Amino acid sequence: MPVIIDPLPTRESSEGPGLGAPRTITYLRISVTDRCNLRCRYCMPEDQEFFPRDHLLHFEELLAVARILVDAGVRKIRITGGEPLMRREVPKLVGMLRALSDDVQLCMTTNAMLLAPQARALRDAGLDRLNVSLDTLRPDRFERISRRAGLDAALAGLAAAADAGFERTKLNTVVMGGFNDDEIPDLLAFAESQGHEQRFIEFMPLTSNEYGLDLHRVPVGEIRRRIEAYGPLAPRDKDPGPPGPAETFTIASTGQRVGVIAAISLPFCETCNRVRLTADGRLRSCLFEGGEVDVRALVRGADDLDAAVAGALDFLRRVKPPVHDGVGHVQMNQVGG
Ligand code: SAM
Ligand code: SF4
Repeated sequence: MPVIIDPLPTRESSEGPGLGAPRTITYLRISVTDRCNLRCRYCMPEDQEFFPRDHLLHFEELLAVARILVDAGVRKIRITGGEPLMRREVPKLVGMLRALSDDVQLCMTTNAMLLAPQARALRDAGLDRLNVSLDTLRPDRFERISRRAGLDAALAGLAAAADAGFERTKLNTVVMGGFNDDEIPDLLAFAESQGHEQRFIEFMPLTSNEYGLDLHRVPVGEIRRRIEAYGPLAPRDKDPGPPGPAETFTIASTGQRVGVIAAISLPFCETCNRVRLTADGRLRSCLFEGGEVDVRALVRGADDLDAAVAGALDFLRRVKPPVHDGVGHVQMNQVGG
């Protein structure tokens, strides 16, 4: 399969803060473990070594950091990983975060393999929404991409989530040339039939990634063309809502919403409002670069944790890069995607 590289298109200017201006941080992503029951080729190597368990923050430690960040303005928290459902008692963590505030939207990104037995408990604990990674609907491809069998378990997890009351679950598909790019119509039809929201994600190169830079990346224009071939698009909304990473489209005939996230071709750094807590307790300003603070050391040693974490947040909002350099140096399973 040839390497496909998109010429970098320019994003329409937005109303976001000026380049280099300190950001308002309203979104925290927490990677609760770097471990995973899959080994997706775009995410981690087969022989991945994981952090020693004592490097992970305990639930009480995570809660202490989250509380300070919520007090500072965070209104959305996503639990991710690694595979978050590999961490024991995650519904308990959801309940602890829910008790912090009813005004915070709680979400989770999962591969859904362990979702079936936990969906109800997660819902009852106060989880609002799910993003489920689903790169293919074919069992052989699932195994080729993730190096493990498991499509049936993932689909069972999705069904259990719907039964437990989760609505408008987002399906995240990393589009890879020669692997699953021909499944765009099938995935759109599946999402529509199940009431899910399909999102196609551009492959992001990582220095640790076995495919190297740009290998298998499908140009974002090509992804759009294939969505349009599935069904002509409605005219773009004049008011598309608050800026976010996904460009959203609507299939005219059905009203189905489809998102395309192209962090490399169409960086959304200018409007990025998030910080990330890695599985080993580093608070980062950016998936790719920026800066980070060892919050685990603060949680376990600072005399005044509130002041120390507030200071860390202030530093991170200032060092958020105006635009990233397009190559990630931290593995996705550690930083949470
Ligand atoms: N294990 C969970 C899952 O897969 O949904 C959560 C963690 S995973 C690191 C979070 C997201 O990052 C997933 O949707 C995954 O597809 C995405 N991801 C991982 N590596 C990526 C890469 N190289 N390019 C684009 N997306 C990637
Ligand atoms: Fe695991 Fe998610 Fe990474 Fe796949 S993308 S290996 S499911 S952490």
